[in-house]
Amino acid sequence: MMGASPVIVGAGPAGVRAAQALVAHGLRPVVIDEAPRWGGQIYRQPPPGFLRSKATLYGFEAKRADAVHATMNTLLGRVDYRPNTLVWNVEGDRLLLLSEGRTSSLKRGPLIVASGATDRVLPFPGWTLPGVYTLGAAQIALKYQGCAIGSRVVLAGTGPLLYLVAYQYAKAGAEVAAVLDSASFSDKLAAAPAMLHEPAVFAKGLYYLAWLKAHGVAVHQRAWPLRASGKRHVEALAWHDGHRHHTIDCDAIGFGHALRSETQLADLLGCSFSFDTLQRAHLPQCDAAGRTSVAGVYLAGDGAGIRGADAAEWAGERAALALLADNGVAVDTSREQQLERRLKRNLTFRRGLERAFPFPADWAAHASDDLVVCRCEEITAGELRQVVRDTGAIELNRLKALSRVGMGRCQGRICGAAAAEILAHATGQPIQLVGRLRGQAPIKPLPFTVVEAATEEIA
Ligand SMILES: Cc1cc2nc3c(=O)[nH]c(=O)nc-3n(C[C@H](O)[C@H](O)[C@H](O)COP(=O)(O)OP(=O)(O)OC[C@H]3O[C@@H](n4cnc5c(N)ncnc54)[C@H](O)[C@@H]3O)c2cc1C
Repeated sequence: MMGASPVIVGAGPAGVRAAQALVAHGLRPVVIDEAPRWGGQIYRQPPPGFLRSKATLYGFEAKRADAVHATMNTLLGRVDYRPNTLVWNVEGDRLLLLSEGRTSSLKRGPLIVASGATDRVLPFPGWTLPGVYTLGAAQIALKYQGCAIGSRVVLAGTGPLLYLVAYQYAKAGAEVAAVLDSASFSDKLAAAPAMLHEPAVFAKGLYYLAWLKAHGVAVHQRAWPLRASGKRHVEALAWHDGHRHHTIDCDAIGFGHALRSETQLADLLGCSFSFDTLQRAHLPQCDAAGRTSVAGVYLAGDGAGIRGADAAEWAGERAALALLADNGVAVDTSREQQLERRLKRNLTFRRGLERAFPFPADWAAHASDDLVVCRCEEITAGELRQVVRDTGAIELNRLKALSRVGMGRCQGRICGAAAAEILAHATGQPIQLVGRLRGQAPIKPLPFTVVEAATEEIA
């Protein structure tokens, strides 16, 4: 049997279902989440005292949200739940934690990393103006705080979140001035057969689109933001539809090109990575049960590749069963197989989604030299290209060392994908060959006083 208690990082759908399975087999896992309440991104709970109903907050997902919330609620006495706690580094067999401004460490037993995802950002001129948000941030403002990012909002990019956020904003009473989708309608038609593998999810997507159209929201396909402009705050967005340029007045923009997995923790734990063509990203390798290349480390949910909330629940449970079996606990093998079958079916659906909302592979070719790619260090596309010309850099970490791209507060979590695209285009290499930014601690910004204290403690 295992020594230290199993640890789960993340209390989203994957983490909650993993905890449930471990508790059902008599274990008391530590569940760590930097958020103040469980639920993860999709089922994010508002602060205590906010009284909007689950139906208002989560729409069609209200029942699932309720189920995940209720499950964790019943587990609270049987898990060591640590909210508001960030795992910011890994040192040997210890996780370094930050909670309420103080750092501590935890000896880890077997570990399930269910760290989820964030937006994948492809910058456009003016994206650093106040009033421009990612789609995820726009949704968090609405879901968590009940605020809209503006009163006349343009939403741009591509991916299912684009239509969902547009629907949620319009339903909440914001004026959605336009939805600009870089993908085409024919992309969506071609993807329909694969997406029918999850008919209920597919139907929801069609409903959002039909609802937006029926309520007069302008939805443009093959549409690209050209420049956000305004004196101190965004006032307008110029965009093109492949034929003509247009300008639309707005006081906020939400944009994003689907999601990217949060993989830094897996990286610091030493997991092997490989390039995933579907997600156009280097991802930690794991088998169908979530076992990684590092013994005792498992992955579940969007942190292992973007698969959506339902798949995250199945993957969380599946990883927990693998952890149990690897530690000599008898588990229900038919349940393991059932979960793997569901996850496999979901993968076909995900392939459809990627086809419906394809990554704009020509983005780097159109990125002007003055485009800010890394907002923390203010590095432009032109500066990155210059470094390539001057030094012959062909690998992303080399480009980082020579230009400072990805060296700021976000540690490349925001700019890494775009910098990789610029590098691949500038060097004429396929994207998989430019590599990935290596995870560095702290994986999210820490106060200097905390870093000092942690360094002393470790020394
Ligand atoms: C902003 C955003 C909004 C989304 N909205 C929707 C939506 O409305 N509908 C939909 O179908 N899908 C949505 N998605 C996708 C959906 O959230 C995911 O598919 C699903 O939540 C995945 O579940 P998960 O458990 O893998 O990860 P998540 O739900 O993302 O949960 C991961 C948890 O891990 C915690 N965490 C991560 N790293 C650390 C760390 N180092 N230390 C401590 N805690 C950590 C996070 O706080 C989070 O609570 C959204 C995704 C994002 C990023």
